[in-house]
Amino acid sequence: MRTILLIEDNEQNRYLTTFLLEKRGYAAVSAVDGPAGIETAERILPDLILLDIQLPLMDGYTVARRLRSHPKLRQTPIVAVTSYAMTGDREKAIAAGCTGYIEKPINPETFIEEMERYLETAHEATQGSDSR
Ligand code: MN
Repeated sequence: MRTILLIEDNEQNRYLTTFLLEKRGYAAVSAVDGPAGIETAERILPDLILLDIQLPLMDGYTVARRLRSHPKLRQTPIVAVTSYAMTGDREKAIAAGCTGYIEKPINPETFIEEMERYLETAHEATQGSDSR
């Protein structure tokens, strides 16, 4: 079973995302702020991380940079979940080490499909580095 870590402070967003992930057969683990998210990621080494940008204690950009500095999280897809209106957030998220982004509010119809694109990308990237 693949494990997805969700770092998100908003309870309703956590509830919906967890519901969609579990319905599709993923194990969903959540953290409610930046430091807790980093601690959890290092401990469970998830297959993918969904990262809210506006978080208490530490913003999502800082979280992404810290995650990328961990040797075992360098290849892990990190998908920023950002507001549609906040266009500048996306570039900043990519610059901070995120693999891509999904627009918030999330669309329950397309969310899993969008997320799985990043899972597959990571898989191919990992295979590529293994064969070298
Ligand atoms: Mn938030």
